[in-house]
Amino acid sequence: MVLLPADRTDSLFSPHCVWVNGPIIIGAGPSGLAVAACLREQGVPYVMLERSKHIASLWQDRTYDRLKLHLPKQFCELPRMPFPDHYPEYPTRREFIDYLEDYATKFEINPVFNTTVRSARYNETSGLWRVGTSATGAASDKETMEYIGRWLVVATGENAEKVEPEIPGLDGLDRKVLSHVSQYKSGEVYRGKSVLVVGCGNSGMEVSLDLCDHGAHPAMVVRDAVHVLPREVLGKSTFELAVLLMRWLPLWIVDKIMILLAWLLLGDLAKLGLRRPAAGPLELKETHGRTPVLDYGALARIRAGDIAVVPAVKRFAKGAQVELADGRVLSFDAVILATGYRSNVPQWLENNDFFNKDGYPKTAFPQGQSGLYAVGFTRRGLSGASADAVRIAKDLGNVWREETKPTKRAGPCHRRCISVVF
Ligand SMILES: Cc1cc2nc3c(=O)[nH]c(=O)nc-3n(C[C@H](O)[C@H](O)[C@H](O)COP(=O)(O)OP(=O)(O)OC[C@H]3O[C@@H](n4cnc5c(N)ncnc54)[C@H](O)[C@@H]3O)c2cc1C
Repeated sequence: MVLLPADRTDSLFSPHCVWVNGPIIIGAGPSGLAVAACLREQGVPYVMLERSKHIASLWQDRTYDRLKLHLPKQFCELPRMPFPDHYPEYPTRREFIDYLEDYATKFEINPVFNTTVRSARYNETSGLWRVGTSATGAASDKETMEYIGRWLVVATGENAEKVEPEIPGLDGLDRKVLSHVSQYKSGEVYRGKSVLVVGCGNSGMEVSLDLCDHGAHPAMVVRDAVHVLPREVLGKSTFELAVLLMRWLPLWIVDKIMILLAWLLLGDLAKLGLRRPAAGPLELKETHGRTPVLDYGALARIRAGDIAVVPAVKRFAKGAQVELADGRVLSFDAVILATGYRSNVPQWLENNDFFNKDGYPKTAFPQGQSGLYAVGFTRRGLSGASADAVRIAKDLGNVWREETKPTKRAGPCHRRCISVVF
């Protein structure tokens, strides 16, 4: 149903309004898809808005070719649909996308694509959310369509926008030389070139390895201390082992075991320029959301001298000249920023107390006041998103059934009031 709110009909340029009979879900990544599937099971209708032209845009558009799931598949499947049996322990990026496409088909999830949410605000008087959108890529940010509903599910992800560090001279670099890891596909285009990779998280390490495999010469900037763990211990996933141990042991003991195993299997990494933080890997994940790096073979290439490890960058100069913290000045053909991502919620969610300034919910349970929910912000990857989705859908199912009981008049009343409330 398309409505024009009463107090806006005077302006030719007001956005059109759509009344949503159920929750408005923002984001068609794994988190949004998981909520949608679970809502379907609860019989709750919804509308899903997605800025990209397809589902799972992070995986389709902003990841590199060689990427595989970092964790074994049983920790990455969405609710109500396991991975196909023939999938390997660590599905490839393509296999994961295929799984998500099949998931959307199975649960008949049809997002409204190319629709970027520009604002979302709650109206106390009416008890309704107003979500302003514009067509993705439109010349102007002007909102052209407004979705109105009782509930809002934020599923825009922890990785919505790329982060570029503030380093003197970075802005002056030619964009042909400088790129973010979200644009990186393969090392093929860098063959024979010297490349500075800024950042040593999972992406920085893997991209450095990929560059080596394609005959490039990477140097990886390691500014802070970092935990690197083997991906597997005696053929078993390190992550799985940690999860298992945490059932019986306190986190700090599991941390000690992890560090001991890493030392036994990977050796003293400080010699390679990779200092370990004082806090353990699981403690850091728990307290700061910092994911330990799992080694896929980059360490062997560092040892072999194929990947150089360099300290923090002090400043950049024209021609991709780099002054390092130790005073050295080096020159590179290309610079790749593997400096991570951030949530974009603060950019569009107005007057809200539920999310902090970094765009993460302040409370653990993903439900705020006023019919606001968040899924996929617990820094626990896909398993955390799935758990959130199940709980949110259950909660929404209960509220929905209550509000739509034939005896109760509140639901229909909202719908009748909509054209006079605004
Ligand atoms: C390289 C990489 C590898 C990873 N590997 C793993 C792994 O192996 N296992 C694991 O558990 N986790 C992994 N993760 C964590 C990752 O966050 C999850 O896998 C997953 O993609 C999170 O899903 P999401 O739906 O919460 O967010 P996203 O996948 O980011 O989806 C959010 C969606 O919201 C849309 N959106 C954002 N803003 C707006 C807006 N304003 N309007 C409309 N739409 C919007 C985006 O276009 C996107 O489609 C990885 C992350 C990265 C970056």
